[in-house]
Amino acid sequence: MRDPRYDILFEPTKIGPVMAKNRFYQVPHCNGGGYRDPSAAAAMRGSKAEGGWGVIFTEQCEMHHTSEITPFIELRLWEDKDIPMLRKMSETMKEHGALAGIQLAYSGVNGPNLYTKEVPLAVSAQPIRTFTNDPVQARALDKTDIRDLRRWFVNAAKRSKEAGFDLICLYGAHGFGIFQHFLSRATNHRTDEYGGSLENRARFVNEVVSDMRDAIGDTMGITLRVSLDETIGDLGFSNAEVREFVEMNRNLPDLWDLAQGTWEDCSGPSRFKEEAAQHDLVKGIHELTDRPIVGVGRFTSPDVMVKMINSGTLDFIGCARPSIADPFLPNKIDEGRIEDIRECIGCNICVTGDMTMSISRCTQNPTFMEEWRKGWHPERMNAKGVSSNALVIGAGPAGLEATRALAERGYEVALAEASRVLGGRVARERHLPGLSAWGRVADYREYQISQKANVESYFESALDAESILEFGFENICIATGASWRRDGVSRQHVVPFPTDDAMKIYTPDDLMGEVNPTGHIVIFDDDHYYMGGVIAELLIQKGCSVTLVTPAAYVSEWTLNTLEQHEIHRRLAQMGVKIELNRGVIAIGKDYIETNCVFTDLTQPIGCDAVVLVTSKLENNSVYNDLKVREAEWADSGIKTVKLIGDANAPGPIAWATYAGHRYARELDGDDIGDALPFRREVTELAID
Ligand code: ADP
Ligand code: SF4
Repeated sequence: MRDPRYDILFEPTKIGPVMAKNRFYQVPHCNGGGYRDPSAAAAMRGSKAEGGWGVIFTEQCEMHHTSEITPFIELRLWEDKDIPMLRKMSETMKEHGALAGIQLAYSGVNGPNLYTKEVPLAVSAQPIRTFTNDPVQARALDKTDIRDLRRWFVNAAKRSKEAGFDLICLYGAHGFGIFQHFLSRATNHRTDEYGGSLENRARFVNEVVSDMRDAIGDTMGITLRVSLDETIGDLGFSNAEVREFVEMNRNLPDLWDLAQGTWEDCSGPSRFKEEAAQHDLVKGIHELTDRPIVGVGRFTSPDVMVKMINSGTLDFIGCARPSIADPFLPNKIDEGRIEDIRECIGCNICVTGDMTMSISRCTQNPTFMEEWRKGWHPERMNAKGVSSNALVIGAGPAGLEATRALAERGYEVALAEASRVLGGRVARERHLPGLSAWGRVADYREYQISQKANVESYFESALDAESILEFGFENICIATGASWRRDGVSRQHVVPFPTDDAMKIYTPDDLMGEVNPTGHIVIFDDDHYYMGGVIAELLIQKGCSVTLVTPAAYVSEWTLNTLEQHEIHRRLAQMGVKIELNRGVIAIGKDYIETNCVFTDLTQPIGCDAVVLVTSKLENNSVYNDLKVREAEWADSGIKTVKLIGDANAPGPIAWATYAGHRYARELDGDDIGDALPFRREVTELAID
């Protein structure tokens, strides 16, 4: 079944004293669940075990209470009490023969300790470096502290062993782990034997690895995760210095885990980073060490993976996001089912679960983090219920996912789409600058649906209530999407505001269609996700001059959560977009807009030839509403259920729509659960005083 050219990916490969069954290596990744939702996180890792990964890691695990990153929710290993939770995780990881790894993190200058209230300990005394600029400074570790920290690492290693792990990753990448803080001159200003020369800066990691080898090294593999380039200029741990460090410490860990730079670099979205983007930084490092190397690069193509191995660049294919989008990626390659791979689109919605301390979602894999909470398997649907068919109206992300998943369950499905293509908003948005990979949302589902004998797709079929009643399907799923508003109503304006009819006013829908504006265009972004910035790029490409006005303090503010806000600002600024932050729009005149400062309310006009309103969306729910009015006729038409889903129900990011489609398919013909909670959760056990 397997194409022999991929055989190399399935070779067992050694990591110190343990052997991985293949080269598929799920590198540590957050999931927004962590210590708060340990069973959900464990089941998520378990799905990867079932999907064929050879190595599976936890997210970062805070290994001592003197260093924690509240409000972000990761794992904790502070005392023996934490062991059962972690054991549950390692057990699910190992169910199908994978190696279970734990990533031990001491955050040092990254840990503000908002929860434990301990004074942060760092390599040098510095303000805490976090996403949130906490007004907290760290004290420099003295010699006693360093001795303590070495002992704490040994304690954590012993506990990790007791919790059933095979591998320990020492975190020193992304600017987040203490090993990097020692290695980098940006965070190591010491003048003792731990600072100064590279040899001195590498002393601490050498000591910890040696201590841990003595404690657990004969049974567990020790890996070291460092960034390939700190990307902060000469002062940082540059790629040249990383190479020097590896060469000097050739066989220090059992495996080198080479991340890219900052977390933003390493998890760069597809809008800014291609597959295998770190290739030049990692190339050639292999010659400096005898130990295996794992590297990342949003790998979804088995051919690219094979190239990485055959060229001697990597020994293991490191994946976080590709393993989230498709936990069964290795098995699909193994079984010769390349077309079935659900490729990551690089949107970073998964990251937002961590950044918003909620629980992660994935645009491509709606079951992510619902494996335990809802019992959703990433590849298998529940059995078909009592009814036999469904009509899905609208082939956007919600309708496509509902169709795919209903067909998987065994229903006869008719999919009616008003236009000539499948994909809905994705079919249009994939042509916007930087968003072509998002088309995979439609491509994956279009192919899956094409393989199903029980789905009929109808194009150019704009249905209305009358035709739906005539067809006589038992279940009607309405996924007719949403349209951008033309009246500017969103957050600044909850009701329409004055506009002059003489001014040309466009929405993103117009610009994704035939409209080609010219001259100076003002974009009013009161949506705050990606669309405002993307439209600015599009207009520059079309030769316009562009001013982007937003009441937020950042361009595309919510993309702080997808780790791309800084790239968006940089790209727009470099393209010549004029950016007006902290400004709203209070009126649109015939050849200008009137803006206001969100703090002082001082107004200022900006002359322009047209305005693009990127504000909010209106649900396309008229078909549903018409059908609802005629509820009395449903029974005669054979209709049992009618449901509105996705953007037509409440507009949101694409991930919300695929989730809605999946949920619809899962719950069709399900039991009425009344007022019960529709998912499982874990509640902290009350201490016995
Ligand atoms: P979502 O994100 O919820 O999936 P989209 O806007 O991406 O929503 O997709 C909605 C799809 O529904 C579009 O492709 C649109 O052409 C289609 N559509 C809208 N109204 C109708 C209708 N009455 N009949 C059939 N298709 C429709
Ligand atoms: Fe990839 Fe987006 Fe899914 Fe994250 S949420 S794994 S980036 S598709």
